[in-house]
This record gives sequence, structure tokens and C-alpha cells, in this order.
Amino acid sequence: MPKTYLDYAATTPCDPKVTRAMSVFLKKDFGNPSSIHNFGQKASMAIGGARQSVAEFLGCESEEIVFTGSATEADNLAIFGTVKASKITKPHIITSQIEHPAVLESCRELEKQGAEITYLPVNKDGVVEIAELKKALRPNTLLVSIIYANNEVGTIQPIAEIGELIGHAMSSGHRMSKIYFHTDAVQAANFLDCDVKKLGVDLLTLSAHKIYGPKGIGALYVKKGTPIAPVIYGGGHERGLRSGTENVAGIVGLGQAIKEIQNPKLKIQNIKIRQFRDKLIKTILKIIPGSRLNGSLTQRLANNVNISFDGAEGEAIIVMLDQKGIAASTGSACSSGSLEPSHVLLAMGLSEEQAHGSLRLTLGKLTTQQDIEKVFKVLPTVIQRLRKISGYHS
Ligand SMILES: *Cc1c(COP(=O)(O)O)cnc(C)c1O
Repeated sequence: MPKTYLDYAATTPCDPKVTRAMSVFLKKDFGNPSSIHNFGQKASMAIGGARQSVAEFLGCESEEIVFTGSATEADNLAIFGTVKASKITKPHIITSQIEHPAVLESCRELEKQGAEITYLPVNKDGVVEIAELKKALRPNTLLVSIIYANNEVGTIQPIAEIGELIGHAMSSGHRMSKIYFHTDAVQAANFLDCDVKKLGVDLLTLSAHKIYGPKGIGALYVKKGTPIAPVIYGGGHERGLRSGTENVAGIVGLGQAIKEIQNPKLKIQNIKIRQFRDKLIKTILKIIPGSRLNGSLTQRLANNVNISFDGAEGEAIIVMLDQKGIAASTGSACSSGSLEPSHVLLAMGLSEEQAHGSLRLTLGKLTTQQDIEKVFKVLPTVIQRLRKISGYHS
């Protein structure tokens, strides 16, 4: 049975060019980049090249890129690192209720340690309102961390506008100190402009495995002059911000993946992905009564479909789809396998019951017309069967 993979927001397969570039540094050029000999220098040069590729993508200097062991680690470094380096006695952080757990749980931990945190609400479309953010600013606000594009419902946040607002607040206000702005751009990188100057951010997170690169490698952009302390100590790699022998192959893979997502061919691929997305949304809502789209229709990533079905649980839908050869997700980024309702859907005003019933289909560059048609064929029967079990009547 051919397998249909519609879970690209969870992870992506490595691009063949990525695996080819990586294998050289796993086998032939395996040196430790800290070594002075030729093996080490080759590895060190490769890291430099990858750093340059990431910097070009973000429109920054290569010295402003720190490679980390994951995007989760990059988010942690951005948040804990700036708080640790700050002189504010009780720093205030503004984030949103729809962040990835890597940001949300870091903020919760800092809250336990005495920091003040504002978790901004979102509107029913899942978008942060600028006015809410403006109201939340305080004299002791140190950091604002807002996700660029949400991993569950794909909503795109007005990052450039927020960047501008923070800039204004600093030039006009009687501020104690600078406000730093971080965005998690992990899901955005495939589809949106990540130029850090246009966005007005001081810190930005990327992950390789969401952009057709390997797992276990991330990057944090840290604008020159941003006070930040490490969260990992050791030999002083990555300008002291991330000790530990560099994951050379992983870094090379990230560099290659970043090059590939800037390939002009991708623009055409992304148009196709968006057409598939629109077809999925339109058709599912039409052929399955009692279904509802979650998240904005317009401010939405080109590859994200997130739909709730009355009388059918998300997890049960996923299991049944898997039996029919379709890999999908409920969208919740929780890896514990717990059946908690999605914090993102709850923040958007859905009831607990509705927040349990969602199906996320995320598309990628290998998605085909046949994949889409398979969903149309299989999904209505799955929902019908589950509704029969739950005793739901429309
Ligand atoms: C996947 C994801 C992460 C975590 O990335 P890892 O590299 O797997 O740690 C962080 N933020 C968002 C928005 C994600 O989708």
C-alpha cells in the first residue's frame, strides 16, 4: 500500500543534496573542527561555509549565527540566555499563548524562578493583536518572544509590525533598558521572508529537520550587541554560547538545506503546495458536514490544513487514517502522548471538546495529487465510522 505522508510540520525527509553533502563529513572529512591539522581545518571550513549560507538567508553577518543541538535548544538559549545576561532584577517577558512548548515551557520555568511573564491572548483566527502587545509593555520588559508561524494551525504573526512597535516603544518611552525581540521561525522558514532586518528581530530560531535537513541541529541568530549568556558550559565553542564539539555533518546539512529552500524552483513548488492546501480545505469542509477550519484562512502557511470535526476525536482519526496509509497529526506538539487538548486551539476560543477533535494535514514538496485524492476518498468514511461509535448525529 503506497504511503501518504501529510505531516511535514512534524518533520521532513532530507533532500538528496543534503544527505550527499553530509556524508562527506561523516566519512572522509571526519575531523574535529577544533584540531589544527588538515582534517580539522577541512571540518572547520565546512562549518564556516554553512554559517555563511544561514547568514545569507537571514540577511545578517555569519558571526551572528550560533549553531545549537535543536531549535528547542535555540529557543531555550534565546530566553534563558538573555534573562541571565540582563541586569534587570525582575525581568518581564511577553510571549503568546500559542507558542511552541520550547518557548512556552521555558517561560513557565522562568516564572517559577521569579520572572514576570505575560502570555498574550490571540483572536479567534489565532493571531496576536498589536494593541494587546502594546498594552502589555512595561518598564521592566526585557524580551518579547512571538512565534513567526504556528506549528499547529499555521497562522502567521505580524512579526515585522511587532518589531516596529518595539522599536518605537524604545525610542519614545522612558525605558530602563532595551527590549529584545525573539521569533521562532522554524515553521516559517520554508515559506516566508526571514530577513532579520526587515522583521526587526534581535534573535531568531531555525531548525534543520523542518526544512528538509537532518534532525538534531538548529541555529539561533543573535544580533551583534545583544547581551546573552550561555546555558551550556565547556570548551567555548560557538563563541562561548554553545560548548560541545560541533555536529559538523548536521551543520553542513543545515547549510545545504537553507540553500535548497532558496532555490527558485521552490517558489513554483510552494504555489503547488498552496493549491493543494486550498483544495483540501475547500473539499473537506464541503463533503464532511460538521467540520470547521481552525486558524485564519488568509494569514496562513501555504502547507497547513487544520480542521475540527464534531463527534470525532483527533487521536482516533489519526489512528484510523494511519491504518489506511495516511500519516497525519492532531497538530499538538506534545511528545508525551498525553491526550491533553491543544493549548493553541483553547487559546483561540475552542471548547475542550472541540480542541480534542482536530486533524492537521501539513504538505511538502513531495506531496502529490494522488495524496490529496486519497484523503478525499478515505477521510469521510473514517469520520462517519467514528461518529457512529460516539453516537453523534448531525
Ligand atoms: C519543531 C519545532 C520546534 C522544535 O524544533 P526541534 O529542532 O525539533 O527542537 C520549535 N518550534 C517550532 C515552531 C517547531 O515547529
